[in-house]
Amino acid sequence: MNDKNIYTLPTPCYVIEEDALIKNLEILQSIEQQTGCKILLAQKAFSNYHVYPLIAQYISGTTASGLYEAKLAYEEMGNRQIHCYSPAYKDEDFEELLTICDHIVFNSFSQWKHFKSKALSFSDKVEFGLRINPEYSEIETDIYNPCFQNSRLGITLANFEEDEMDGISGLHFHTMCEQGAETLKRTLKVVEEKFGRYFSNMKWINFGGGHHITKKGYDTDTLVRCIDHIQNRYGVQVYLEPGEAVALNAGYLLTSVLDITKNGMNIAIIDASAACHMPDVLEMPYRPYITDSGEANVFPCTYRLGAATCLAGDIIGDYSFREPLKIGDKLVFHDMAIYSMVKNNTFNGVPLPSIYLLEKSGNIKLLKKFDYSDFKRRL
Ligand SMILES: *Cc1c(COP(=O)(O)O)cnc(C)c1O
Repeated sequence: MNDKNIYTLPTPCYVIEEDALIKNLEILQSIEQQTGCKILLAQKAFSNYHVYPLIAQYISGTTASGLYEAKLAYEEMGNRQIHCYSPAYKDEDFEELLTICDHIVFNSFSQWKHFKSKALSFSDKVEFGLRINPEYSEIETDIYNPCFQNSRLGITLANFEEDEMDGISGLHFHTMCEQGAETLKRTLKVVEEKFGRYFSNMKWINFGGGHHITKKGYDTDTLVRCIDHIQNRYGVQVYLEPGEAVALNAGYLLTSVLDITKNGMNIAIIDASAACHMPDVLEMPYRPYITDSGEANVFPCTYRLGAATCLAGDIIGDYSFREPLKIGDKLVFHDMAIYSMVKNNTFNGVPLPSIYLLEKSGNIKLLKKFDYSDFKRRL
């Protein structure tokens, strides 16, 4: 982050970087333009609706994991497409979804049969699809692998009921996570082998998310070829619904050092928490980069960075710095726009970080500030 003014902000806080967001959106827009595919923001990763009008200028819309995300898109990006996929819908939610969504994707034939008659009464406005599970994924972390054994996500070929396709316009698969176009190419081969015979009767195929399109070195040519191949061969519209790629490297978490202690090594306690503010650090596991830092022992001063919570494992990692850390020092964690704010919680009574937008002009705008009442109200 170039903007030194950021360092004066009260911590902890997130800073969304408009410039970086726009760079990502330009890449995604060019994929839409080159192929005619449609790209949707998966709101699960990033739901900062203050920038939805900006996002709407570049890509075709959003996808939701259920009613709340769909409503958010409807209220804040209502002029673009809204798609929804959920492993299971509730009756009371489904009626409202029908009034706001363009596509609704079902996870099983039993869900499709359950909602079919209600769904088809909206078939002039809404299209319906099924999530398939090709049982092929290159994701090695089980918690992020929709194709692990006995997965509940998507219909496998053995469970596919081809007689129940009446009213279905599209198929959806989501089997990737932070992966390149070569993975998509290999995945598509399996998807086509297993389900390709149904494609020509469909209007659209949704390739899901997990495409690391805006990461440096991503092979967009291969992505374009994959999209072209499916669209041309089967006469369908391809959709992609990346979450990460939309806001990749487009945000920071700014924190302060609260204390420095020692127990066999240097320890720094900071006012941000892995458990509350960057849960992927514990789940994935994942190591965020901090400005001017290295792995342990790369620079002279190594610290274990931990949160001011009571959870022993609330540790972000071991980082080294050129100079000793001091109480009050600011640390800037990178790539904190995605899967962060949407996952925040107030475990241990830890405050929710404020959210700022670093505008293209350099102006810093406060989007959200939280206080004690946000903690109390939820309990
Ligand atoms: C999580 C998810 C996405 C977005 O995935 P990213 O890895 O953030 O690109 C898209 N579609 C579905 C069905 C998902 O579950």
